[in-house]
Amino acid sequence: MKQKQQQALQIAIDGPAGAGKSTVAKLVAEQLHLFYVDTGAMYRAIAYKALKCKIDLADELNVSQIAKNVEVVLDHSEAGTVWCDGENVTQVIRNPEISRAVSTVAAYAEVRERLVGLQRREAERGGVVMDGRDIGTHVLPEASLKIFLTATLQERAKRRWRELVKAGKNAILEEVAKDIQERDRQDTQRAVSPLESAQDAIILDTTGLSVEEIVGKIIALTQEDGR
Ligand code: C5P
Repeated sequence: MKQKQQQALQIAIDGPAGAGKSTVAKLVAEQLHLFYVDTGAMYRAIAYKALKCKIDLADELNVSQIAKNVEVVLDHSEAGTVWCDGENVTQVIRNPEISRAVSTVAAYAEVRERLVGLQRREAERGGVVMDGRDIGTHVLPEASLKIFLTATLQERAKRRWRELVKAGKNAILEEVAKDIQERDRQDTQRAVSPLESAQDAIILDTTGLSVEEIVGKIIALTQEDGR
């Protein structure tokens, strides 16, 4: 791990949809007593607000306007709670409708600019584990440790499907897989900060690994010197 004197520990975790980033990032943050910042939740909140305001998602100008004016807050006192203009959107932003809409709004430069600003401000609070698509490449290029988490499409779809079923949602595995594949396509092909592994990231294929094993590997990497 890069030795950054006088800089709090920053761990960037990027990767495609359903790779387990948020589950793993949350646990790593808990164990290392760092803040956890779920940047995907911020993009989801923008998508939610745009849909709620009945804005055509293809209308970049209006979506960007929403992003400029909306207040998105990640509540660290109540881990995982997301507020959007005073509304608790923690659950609703996980709906498949939002998952299908989010990559469209996340492709807009002004939406990203606004959220990246908020994300960097979050990192100024102290040590942080931040997960997303462009954390290692763009948001925190000087992060102490960069992880690119991945797994086969089949495994990622199964994990997401299980989460949805557990949350009482009516989900079909094949549809979940199709949605994930389409989201990854949009995220990797967009012009601004596409999903890609930073050159200095460590790629962790989590196929067949348990959450505990992945968390253990990341914690071990934070303890290594001289990388
Ligand atoms: O991580 P999660 O699946 O909740 O992210 C939802 C979407 O938000 C991604 O598919 C992507 O379009 C967008 N996103 C992004 N950059 C980030 C985090 C998320 O573009 N740093």
